[in-house]
Amino acid sequence: MKRRYFIFDPEKCIGCFNCLHACKDEHVGNDFSPVALPQKLHQQYWLTTTEHIRGQHPMVDVAYLTEPCGHCENAPCVAEGGGAVIRRPDGVVLIDPERAKGKGDLSRLCPFGKISYNEEQGVSQKCTFCAHLLDEGWKQPRCAQACPLEALRMEYAEPEEMARRAASGELAPLDAAHAACGSALYLKNAARLNTLFLGGSVATGEGPEEVCAENCPVALLRDGAEVQRQRTNAFGEFKFDGLKPGIYQVVISPGEMDRQTDPIELTESRSIGVCRI
Ligand code: SF4
Ligand code: SF4
Repeated sequence: MKRRYFIFDPEKCIGCFNCLHACKDEHVGNDFSPVALPQKLHQQYWLTTTEHIRGQHPMVDVAYLTEPCGHCENAPCVAEGGGAVIRRPDGVVLIDPERAKGKGDLSRLCPFGKISYNEEQGVSQKCTFCAHLLDEGWKQPRCAQACPLEALRMEYAEPEEMARRAASGELAPLDAAHAACGSALYLKNAARLNTLFLGGSVATGEGPEEVCAENCPVALLRDGAEVQRQRTNAFGEFKFDGLKPGIYQVVISPGEMDRQTDPIELTESRSIGVCRI
């Protein structure tokens, strides 16, 4: 049976927070019972956008992770919610405002911090997938509809189809904990968030005589075997991305003689600085 999924692409997200503001616009001051009571204006977020910085000066990049509730298939909040949290046939997990009243703060039931307590309404709350809109025929929840780059999308798909796309490497779960819960939040281009880069630059001369070595062949070795190869850009820079932690060596081939760095232990994204040839 088809189920609703969130697909998030960190390659596209610019951290504009439109999704979060759209969620606020939809839910603050609006009672969509039985799907949800109004959200608080302040200090309550049904989705988050967090910044992930890789590298240090002079080679830094930033990616964002927008994370709503994963509407998990094996949701602890449903299992332990005492009937206050239900999972619909289309996979949408909802906190029933009536049943949740009097049950206190249920935020402990989500291992991912996606449930929060609204003391103004006296009820725990979380993302509803904008079920009140989807049930009227909307194609996207407000957060995804407001995303200018389509970094966040809802897809209504068969679980087998999603499993096939995950097996092919097109999609990935957020992490092992989300996978174990059967989270319906998948990442595209997950490497942007969960891999490392090793960069640097190649130059000739020193001080005022220094010149960027453009178009210089550079290779990356792991365990003595080449794993990536590229040419330096106009600034003499190279950047090998999508790496796992490990020991690497960089080989620069400006002409007839190769220059090989000492082994580099990569535990976080970094630049090895200027390599002079
Ligand atoms: S992410 Fe948390 S709140 Fe959402 S369904 Fe999973 S366990 Fe429940
Ligand atoms: S609206 Fe889209 S681009 Fe902006 S923060 Fe949200 S997911 Fe990222």
